Amino acid sequence: MLSVILPAYNEEKMIQKAADTVGAILAQASIPYELVFVNDGSKDATWEAIERAAQTDHHITGINFSRNFGKESAMLAGLANASGDCCAVMDCDLQHPPQALVEMYRLWEQGYEVVEGVKRTRGRESALHRASAGLFYRIISGAVKIDMTRASDFKLLDRRAVDALLTMPERSVFFRALSSWIGFHKTTVEFDVQERTEGESKWSTWSLVQYAVKNIVAFSTVPMQFVTVAGLCVFLFGIVLGIQTLIRYFSGHAIEGFTTVILLILIIGSVIMISLGIIGYYIAKIYEEVKGRPRYLIAKTIRAGKAEPEGRTKTSGKEEIQEGEGLKKCGK
Ligand code: UDP
Ligand code: MG
Repeated sequence: MLSVILPAYNEEKMIQKAADTVGAILAQASIPYELVFVNDGSKDATWEAIERAAQTDHHITGINFSRNFGKESAMLAGLANASGDCCAVMDCDLQHPPQALVEMYRLWEQGYEVVEGVKRTRGRESALHRASAGLFYRIISGAVKIDMTRASDFKLLDRRAVDALLTMPERSVFFRALSSWIGFHKTTVEFDVQERTEGESKWSTWSLVQYAVKNIVAFSTVPMQFVTVAGLCVFLFGIVLGIQTLIRYFSGHAIEGFTTVILLILIIGSVIMISLGIIGYYIAKIYEEVKGRPRYLIAKTIRAGKAEPEGRTKTSGKEEIQEGEGLKKCGK
């Protein structure tokens, strides 16, 4: 069976449409399937839409987060609750063409364990956006040592790959890179990013910058080398200036040089502060990992049209809270 995981944040208009479109395509290709919708703490009626869809269509499983935990967590929750022999992850705004699922499934049947969707075109976006995305993917590709410039979150994973992903203990997950990192027998399927028909993109420029920094730090320690390199440069500069100062002193012209002093203070001060900032960012990330909080909390699960009473029940008796995978693994 194929499990299709669809993370949804403020997508009330897309749920039924996505369920119908994907369902029809898979049914036509006679692929047994389930659809796992993960409501990532939407502010609109996404969860109600999922509940409604799950009542009528028993292929649908719905997972409701207790709040917004981000797309990466939503994808992992979907994978953790999927029961298929292979799992596909796709956006529920249908920007990832559902027809490609059939192609991916056929490749899986031929024995591929990871089928990655790669973007043939990136869809419509501004020049600045394209340039910064290009820079981000170059850095990430260097860190993962795999070309990620056309990577997307649209992929199909064999059960073995899914289980491997779910055993990763880290809290800061960059799904796109992690699913390349795990290896396995791999192939790609090209697709064109479709236009969004309803709703709007959840990504502002600032949230994309934060996303980029977070994921670079999650995958690479190269920014920390900046501290060493900057230190080395300042040190070399210091030697040159030191020699010049000594020559001046012994030749009796030692009074000038305030400009140098001011410049030195400014340069060294800013290099130190940038360096501390970078180190601080890594320490903050270590702190988050060490706390070991679950990646997400599930408030409610609907399977086969029924709410599922699983997990640890809160004594307040309102709704069930099921722990995220990570916490269970820690044995806490
Ligand atoms: N999404 C999510 N949680 C979030 C933000 C987005 O689950 O915090 C989902 C969203 O519902 C969609 C997918 O992630 O299915 C991609 O989001 P979006 O379409 O906004 O991104 P874009 O296609 O513009 O990159
Ligand atoms: Mg989208």
